[in-house]
Amino acid sequence: MSSNQELTGRWQGALMDNYGTPRIPLTHGAGARLHDADGNAYLDFVGGIAVNSLGTGHPAVVRAVSEQIARLGHVSNLFIAEPPIELAERLLALAGRPGRVYFSNSGAEAVEAAFKLGRLTGRPHMVATDGGFHGRTMGALALTGQPAKQRGFQPVPGEVTHVPYGDAEALRAAVTRDTALVIIEPVQGENGVVVPPAGYLAAAREITRATGTLLVLDEVQTGIGRTGQWFEGLAQGVEADVVTLAKGLGGGLPIGATLAFGPAAELFAPGHHGSTFGGNPVSCAAALAVLDTIESEGLLTQVRRMGERLREGIWQLGHPLVDRVRGAGLLLGIVLTEPLAAQVQQAAQAAGILVNAVASDVVRLAPPLIIDEAEVSEFIAALPGVLDVADTQAKAAVSH
Ligand code: PMP
Repeated sequence: MSSNQELTGRWQGALMDNYGTPRIPLTHGAGARLHDADGNAYLDFVGGIAVNSLGTGHPAVVRAVSEQIARLGHVSNLFIAEPPIELAERLLALAGRPGRVYFSNSGAEAVEAAFKLGRLTGRPHMVATDGGFHGRTMGALALTGQPAKQRGFQPVPGEVTHVPYGDAEALRAAVTRDTALVIIEPVQGENGVVVPPAGYLAAAREITRATGTLLVLDEVQTGIGRTGQWFEGLAQGVEADVVTLAKGLGGGLPIGATLAFGPAAELFAPGHHGSTFGGNPVSCAAALAVLDTIESEGLLTQVRRMGERLREGIWQLGHPLVDRVRGAGLLLGIVLTEPLAAQVQQAAQAAGILVNAVASDVVRLAPPLIIDEAEVSEFIAALPGVLDVADTQAKAAVSH
């Protein structure tokens, strides 16, 4: 077995370094527990960045994937198999409306399909939000409202206006009859778990309806139980024209889904778009196992309960480094009073807890949806020590 150091050396030699931060070579896990190559154990509050919805090695996912790969692993887009048909039907049933689903392999691809639907309206203009994150492929990148991510890749396609997130009046001023689509995350995940004011999504619905513009809700991060709801938009009473999903849907297997409703469901005609791997039976079987398990284990309610406990527990620590805890369900951001998120991530790691510094002053928590009270309590008990270490180290660094 290779050690952490050996694997890190090989990784740095062989893999393109797209992220730059030192990464822990993980070897295996179970539930919300992960292990690295040196045998260290971690409590997983990252969840593969909101992907491992049922944790690691959930028996339902293992069984579904094993059975499906043994029976029929891949059929291409020349044929069809039952798992994608069933998954599409299930997702539409959860959405409560007729529509159509396009399957791909990632969040960016799910958004890319939405971008192409927008183009097919014949309208040139699109509206997205400052700080929004929709992926790194060129269409998705054009919608992403983080200039640093676009740097080096200009020109990005499209005629995209970015407006301040959460500001319904700015949205109203930007949207015209030339606007093909408006894309919004119900909670901005990558921008630091930013929650918009109540009524923002409903206002976006009203504004887009008035101009015949498609409302695209990017639920890649928020969807399928992460916020304690199947769809965060729908839970707020907002029926979008297009909903994008990925991350937690496949329980660790790559899958993206673009759900389209009403006239938007009729925009793609044969030949418009496609993907060799999209809708492959194995990823779809995993996703069906995720949906079944969320239902059979009552995880939506549990996520809301655990999310509330976590939020309350962290807040009640009264630690001077904690300014606020925000988010929904088990997508939470601990907003710090100082820009020490990277230090908190490091200190947590040393204490055997994985969290993610998503902004300079925001630590993101996205644990598996299956976490229980004992794991939540373990996290809360460890947090003051972690924050103290981060604070002490930051002060020591300044005084040197
Ligand atoms: N949309 C949102 C809201 C996301 O959070 C992400 C990923 N962080 C994406 C799209 C892109 O997904 P992927 O990394 O799978 O391409």
